[in-house]
Amino acid sequence: MSTPASRTPASRHHKRPRGEGQWALGYREPLNKNEENKKNDDGLNVRQRIIDIYSKQGFDSIDPADLRGRMRWYGLYTQRKPGIDGGKTAILEPEELDDRYFMLRVRIDGGQLDLAQLRTIADISNAYGRGTADLTDRQNIQLHWIEIESVPDIWERLEAVGLSTTEACGDTPRVILGCPLAGIDSDEVIDATEQILEINERVVGNPAFSNLPRKFKSALSGCPAHCTVHEINDVAFVGVVNEHGETGYDLWVGGGLSTNPMLGKRLGVFVRPEQAADVYEGVVGVFRDYGYRRLRHRARIKFLVNDWGPERFREVLETEYLKEQLPDGPAPELPRGSRRDHVGVFPQKDGDFYVGFAPKVGRLDGDKLHAIADIAERHGSDRVRTTVEQKMVILDVAPDRVDSIVAALEAVDLQVKPSTFRRQTMACTGIEYCKLAIVETKATAMDLIDELERRLPAFEEPLTINVNGCPNSCARIQVADIGLKGQLVVDENGDQVEGFQIHLGGSLGVNAGFGRKVRGLKTTAKALPDYVARVVSNYDSQKKEGESFAD
Ligand code: SF4
Repeated sequence: MSTPASRTPASRHHKRPRGEGQWALGYREPLNKNEENKKNDDGLNVRQRIIDIYSKQGFDSIDPADLRGRMRWYGLYTQRKPGIDGGKTAILEPEELDDRYFMLRVRIDGGQLDLAQLRTIADISNAYGRGTADLTDRQNIQLHWIEIESVPDIWERLEAVGLSTTEACGDTPRVILGCPLAGIDSDEVIDATEQILEINERVVGNPAFSNLPRKFKSALSGCPAHCTVHEINDVAFVGVVNEHGETGYDLWVGGGLSTNPMLGKRLGVFVRPEQAADVYEGVVGVFRDYGYRRLRHRARIKFLVNDWGPERFREVLETEYLKEQLPDGPAPELPRGSRRDHVGVFPQKDGDFYVGFAPKVGRLDGDKLHAIADIAERHGSDRVRTTVEQKMVILDVAPDRVDSIVAALEAVDLQVKPSTFRRQTMACTGIEYCKLAIVETKATAMDLIDELERRLPAFEEPLTINVNGCPNSCARIQVADIGLKGQLVVDENGDQVEGFQIHLGGSLGVNAGFGRKVRGLKTTAKALPDYVARVVSNYDSQKKEGESFAD
C-alpha cells in the first residue's frame, strides 16, 4: 500500500519546506556520512558478508562502514572497550572505543516468547555471550561479548525457533511493542497480536523500508493500562471502541524522547484492525519519503510531525499513501490504574492466572533464563512475556499452581511482590558496554534499590526511577518521577566524578509531561542513595491525600 520510495511526489498542496534532505522533495544526494553509507549499500546486505566473510576471516576483516553502520541492521553494535572512563567518551575516536566484541539485540515483537525460544536465547547466552542477558525497556533481550565468528550459528539457532535480530537496531522499523497480556486480559480493548505479526511479516527485512531517515519505534496495543507507552513511540496504535461499538485503533505519531523530547500526537483517525498494516506502511512511507535526512539529530519523525502538525500529516497519509480517507475516531480511555507494568498475580479471562515478576533493572543471565523456563514448564505454562519495564510475565498458570510458582520464582530472587523501588526502577546499559555512556548505570541502580529498600521499607506508592548513562534517553528519564541523566560532576574535593543531573516529576498518562530539569540539581553517584532517599521521604511525609509524586 505504500508508495515506492523512488517516486517523485507532487506535494502541490504543501508549503515548500526547507531543504532537510527529504527524498520526496528531490533531495536524493546524501547530505551526511550516515546517509552516504546507506546509499552506498543497503544495511540489509551486510548479512551475507557476515556469513561469507567476516565470520570466517574474523574481526579485522570487517569493513568499517559495516562495523559502525550496517551491522546495526542485524542488532549488532560493538561494545565499549573495558576500562575507558566516561570522560573520554566524547574525546576518543570511535575505533578507540570499540571492543572486538558485540552487543547482540534479539527482537521480541509484542514481547511474546514460548519456552523453546526462551531456552534458545539462554543457550546462546551461555555458549557465546559469557552468560549475559539483559531485558531492555523495549521488550528485547540483549546479549554481550558476542564474537563475529559466532554470529551465523546464533542466527541459525534463533531462526530455527522463529526469532530474529533483523532490524533490531539501525534506521529501520525496530521491534514492535505489544501488551504482554494480549489475548488474556479480560479488560483489554483489543488483542493486537495478529496485527503485530502481520506488520512484522510485511515490513521487517523489506528493502522498501530498510533505509529510513532514522530509527523508527512502534507500538500496537489494546492494553487498558497503556503499558506500551504509546505517547513516546514514533508510531502507536492504541485500542479504542468507536461510536458504532467497533474495536480498532487510535493512531498516534511523532513521540520520542532523547535530547528533544516530544509526546506523540493523535491524528484523530479510526483504524480498523484489518487496515492496521496498510496504515503502518503508510506512516513509515511518509517518514521514509518526507523525513529529514540532513542532520541526524533532527531526523526522527517527531520533527516532521512537529513542523507539519497532525492535520497535514493525516492529509498526506490519506491522499498520497492510503488513497482513501480514514474515518474520525475517539481518543483512548484513560489508563487503568497508576502502574503500567504487569507485575503481580492476576486472573486471565480464561480462569488461569498470569504472574509478573521483577528482575532487578532487567538484569538476567543465561542460567536465570533457563530457570524461568523450567519454572514455567513445571507449572504447566509454555508462554512467557517481556514487558517495557524490564520485567517478565509467565502466562497460563492454573489457580492451584499459583502459590507454588510464586515461591519458585522468589526462591531465585525473581520477586512477584517487589518493593516499589525494585518494581519501578529501570536502567539503561551504561558504561559497562555502551560506547556513548558517561557513567555506570546497572550496578548503580541495583545498589540504589537495595539501599532504598533498606532505608524506606514501608514506602509503597507508585514511583518511577529511571537511570541513564548519558543524555540520550534509552531508559526514558524525562517521563520518570525521578529521572537520572548520567554526566560527570564535581565532588566536594573538586574532582570530576560520575554523577547525575536530576529530572523530577515526569509522567505519562493523564497528566503526561516531561520531568523538570532543576538547574544545578546534580548528585555524585556516591551520594545518589542519600539524595533519592531524601526526596522520597519528603514526598512521603508531605503528600496530601491522593497526590502523586508528579503532582
Ligand atoms: Fe548508552 Fe546513553 Fe542509551 Fe544509556 S542512554 S544505553 S549510556 S546511549
